[in-house]
Amino acid sequence: MHNAAFDALGLNWVYLAFDVAPEPSAVGGALAGMRALGIAGLSVTIPHKETVAAAVDRRSSLADALGAVNTVVLEPGGALRGENTDGPGFLRALQDDEGFDPAHKRCLVVGAGGAARAVVRALADAGAAEVVVVNRTPARAEAVVALAADCARVGVAAEAGEADLVVNATPIGMAGGGAEDALPVDPVHLGPGQLVVDLVPNPAITPLIEAARSRGAAATNGLGMLVHQAAIAFRLWTGVDPPTATMSAAALAELARR
Ligand code: NAP
Repeated sequence: MHNAAFDALGLNWVYLAFDVAPEPSAVGGALAGMRALGIAGLSVTIPHKETVAAAVDRRSSLADALGAVNTVVLEPGGALRGENTDGPGFLRALQDDEGFDPAHKRCLVVGAGGAARAVVRALADAGAAEVVVVNRTPARAEAVVALAADCARVGVAAEAGEADLVVNATPIGMAGGGAEDALPVDPVHLGPGQLVVDLVPNPAITPLIEAARSRGAAATNGLGMLVHQAAIAFRLWTGVDPPTATMSAAALAELARR
């Protein structure tokens, strides 16, 4: 996505993958290397988001609240700033791609990991009327609710019937994940007027998406979140408006290639 965007804009930048060991010392070394080499930005992914949040020089208020960083920016004086674009990317995908504004809407999120934390916080910040958090391990759901105490509460999947928006933020339904045929929500609770977003990246049409559509609900996958979180990071690094359509096409081409 990023290299396609650099090419499209004629920017002499390159985006490379670095495989970094999970130990904090390795993460600290990678960040020191970034500063020493003058690397303008980093994307951070599993399992490094929390470790990087603790290691950067400063964090945006959102990254601070989430305790997780997915984007690092090298500031002109050499300081490393941690940002989190996952939730804003999710929100932009909802608003720009699906025409769904969460303000005053009832939402239900399944999962309590990093993706769920970002999504719940984003929905609350966007003015959702209610965010019900459903998770296999209830204590983890409580911790997510604490991120959005004004409107979030722990609930059960059967409450999906009252939700305008249902989000799967677990790997249930992911190819090769061991729960390929499982559903995070019983489709009997899904129907017309609802939007279902399944963040599982592969397959493109998950069992949940298929079931939701067959019941008359609108349903989409996590590609929009992936593209928009990257587009927001691109803007933070380069200061240039991202060519989002180019990035989306590149992501689609890559997924098709795999
Ligand atoms: P994570 O931190 O490992 O959290 C996983 C969550 O799923 C936990 O709440 C876990 O419950 C639950 N879970 C896992 N297996 C389960 C099962 N068999 N039955 C019920 N619950 C189960 O993972 P994550 O980073 O949040 O990612 C979650 C999903 O979102 C993944 O599919 C990931 O690929 C996707 N994602 C997409 C994007 C995007 O841009 N589209 C971005 C980030 C993540 P417990 O708390 O009980 O363990």
